[in-house]
Amino acid sequence: RKLGVALLGLGKYSSGQLAPALQQTKLCRLAGIVTGSPEKAAKWKQQYQLADKNIYDYKTFDRIADNPDIDIVYVVTPNALHAEYAVRAAQAGKHVICEKPMATTVADARRMIAASQKAGKKLSIGYRLHFEPHNQAMMHLGQTQAYGPLKHLVSDNGFRFGNDTPWRVDKALAGGGPLMDMGIYSLQGCIYTKGQVPIAVTAKFDPKTDTQLFKDVEAGLKWQLQFADGTTADCHTSYAENLDGRLRAEAANGWFELQPAFGYGGLAGSTSKNDGKLNLPNINQQAAQMDDFADCVLHNKPTRVPGEMGLRDVQLLLAIYRAAETGQKVATTDVQKLIDRT
Ligand code: NAD
Repeated sequence: RKLGVALLGLGKYSSGQLAPALQQTKLCRLAGIVTGSPEKAAKWKQQYQLADKNIYDYKTFDRIADNPDIDIVYVVTPNALHAEYAVRAAQAGKHVICEKPMATTVADARRMIAASQKAGKKLSIGYRLHFEPHNQAMMHLGQTQAYGPLKHLVSDNGFRFGNDTPWRVDKALAGGGPLMDMGIYSLQGCIYTKGQVPIAVTAKFDPKTDTQLFKDVEAGLKWQLQFADGTTADCHTSYAENLDGRLRAEAANGWFELQPAFGYGGLAGSTSKNDGKLNLPNINQQAAQMDDFADCVLHNKPTRVPGEMGLRDVQLLLAIYRAAETGQKVATTDVQKLIDRT
């Protein structure tokens, strides 16, 4: 039997990426939905042939506990709501995949981990690039020092925000601006290419180009990660300009980079040695990510992208904000103890 996944929050990512990916997965399938919109419920029911008993709204959702068709709840709401639904799903006895960023506060992230642990269920974060060949190759080349020790990393990721999802510039729902949404890819990319968690961060907000649109959150932000051996990573994120989505590593004996690095497809890489090591296929990342999680559930294996990794990143994102707000270098040594997985 394929494991049943219920998507909770049927916005752009669920409808554009996750539901189509669940038509390609081998170990799991779209079995249910949780939505506040009766119109969406009717449309999805017909489009994906969903059983009535597998369709929930946010009030009836807790009854999912009694539904053996649903093994996994995938939380795809605005960021600040992840915690409530991930906790309720765990309390209902379900495994959980939660979108990035895991939460907007450290307390929420801890609450989510505790709820899954208490329920004896797995919790993973929607870090799809850990299952994507180009990014996996960056991890491998960086962590094995294939081009010698890493010296410097560069990454950017951002887009010109058009306000089609207003919650993204509402601090209460998003937890922050482009750093929470797009910068998290650069943070992740630098950590998994280096294979270490940074020991300190410095950061500076970009000027606010549109003070009305960005009244609540940053328009953009540049930050530097500092690693224990002196390696640095310079990153930039923005909602005010289109940035490439780049991940570049400069090592003692050459460089390697992805550009674009973080999209759903069309990723491409090159290296100073022209050795073809980053000439790799593009795959359906979400299908690979969800099948990996289903495999972990079926065979009781740890996920590569656990809640603890999500918590670590929430802590680092908040450290970057603190660095930008204070103008001071912020040490992350306490964060490091949390998880050694990169
Ligand atoms: P979206 O606005 O298109 O969808 C959010 C959904 O949540 C909507 O269907 C909305 O109705 C629902 N919702 C429930 N309660 C809500 C409330 N109180 N206020 C507003 N909406 C509410 O956003 P999206 O782009 O689908 O993003 C959803 C989540 O997925 C975010 O956490 C985002 O960071 C993440 N995401 C991840 C990726 C990825 O590549 N991993 C890509 C896009 C989005």
